[in-house]
Amino acid sequence: MADRPVIETDVVVVGAGPAGLFQAFQLGLLGMSVVLVDALPEAGGQCTALYADKPIYDVPGIPVCTGRELTERLLQQAHPFLGAPLAPQPSADTTAPGRLWLNHLVASLDALPEGGFLLGTAHATTQATGPSLRARGVVLATGAGAFLPRGLGLAGLDGLANVHHHLSDAEQWAGQHVVVAGGGEEALSAVAHLLALPPALAPGRLTLMHRRAQWQAEPELLALVQEAITQGRVHLALGLPTAFAQEAEAPRLAHLNLLTPDSTTAELACDQLVIRLGLSPKLGPLQHWGLALERKQLPVDTAQFQTSLAHVHAIGDAVTYPGKLRLIVSGFHEATLAAHGLARHLIGGHPAQPLYTTTSAVLHDRLGLAAP
Ligand code: FAD
Repeated sequence: MADRPVIETDVVVVGAGPAGLFQAFQLGLLGMSVVLVDALPEAGGQCTALYADKPIYDVPGIPVCTGRELTERLLQQAHPFLGAPLAPQPSADTTAPGRLWLNHLVASLDALPEGGFLLGTAHATTQATGPSLRARGVVLATGAGAFLPRGLGLAGLDGLANVHHHLSDAEQWAGQHVVVAGGGEEALSAVAHLLALPPALAPGRLTLMHRRAQWQAEPELLALVQEAITQGRVHLALGLPTAFAQEAEAPRLAHLNLLTPDSTTAELACDQLVIRLGLSPKLGPLQHWGLALERKQLPVDTAQFQTSLAHVHAIGDAVTYPGKLRLIVSGFHEATLAAHGLARHLIGGHPAQPLYTTTSAVLHDRLGLAAP
């Protein structure tokens, strides 16, 4: 197998939640190059994964915004340094990502004998090895851990080409038999999304698969899906998946074997399977990076938010220190001090007092603003 590429950057930020996004902005503002990596297909961490459409009222200067709106604003602010799309976009490309690597799990972190760090990545769902990153500094903005989609518990299923956890390719499934697995809000909202596609892009057959005929979701969504079931626009497949069969010539799912509620077995064939059982945060790799941990959190100093490893900083919900509050605003403060801590180490002559974005020509230049 050909060697995977190693990409060089000043700093790698692990985790694109609100703390990691603002960290990327602060590092860029101080003149450092940055790569921001997240296991999810969208930036925003908890804000998009757990409460995308719910209001937040305590972000300074923004009386109210949803989790998704805050993420869009943070992406827009960090755009000069991430070159990322302004609207969050899924990116499954493991070979040539830009500066915002979505769908990538940081799987390993090793200190190099010559100084700096090597970080290994893997595709978040298939676990395929991705490119490595070499950096002089690292910021862990990992929250409670990498948000990884829950699977059906069948080894080998997640690597198959027609098994998905997200709907980013849904428009390519026109006319096909799509099975959505799950009984909660996530599964039902996926069904609603597929039902809303224009006829030319809609699946030819849509099936909702769950252990039993009981769903949990907001009343409006529940009513919409139940009506579609009654109208025969959504079919039901009840049962617990126990095994699966692959097509012989390609690594694709052919059918699932189900143990039905009346203890019979059934085969459920499909063209595309979308597993929507929610996300679970996995501290996972971080436990093996040789960092001191206290109750699964990273102790840091409050001057520059450094962990037990020199030049590895940590911010946001991932950290613990006396008085720590798990709020978005705390992550913003921590990111600012971590960036200045790294700048003192990485940039010769880093000024002791911060420059002002209002008046500094240097900062305007970094932000790509035209001189007045
Ligand atoms: P997170 O948002 O948790 O993001 C961490 C990211 O790191 C994740 O996307 C994860 O996938 C990624 N990651 C972790 N490990 C890896 C790895 N190894 N490789 C790749 N990626 C990795 N706070 C407020 O201030 N105001 C509110 O009104 C508010 N409302 C909330 C409502 C709800 C329902 C919840 C659950 C939380 C709320 N919070 C609120 C808390 C706030 O969302 C968190 O404090 C904030 O999201 C923490 O940001 P973070 O960037 O540290 O971590």
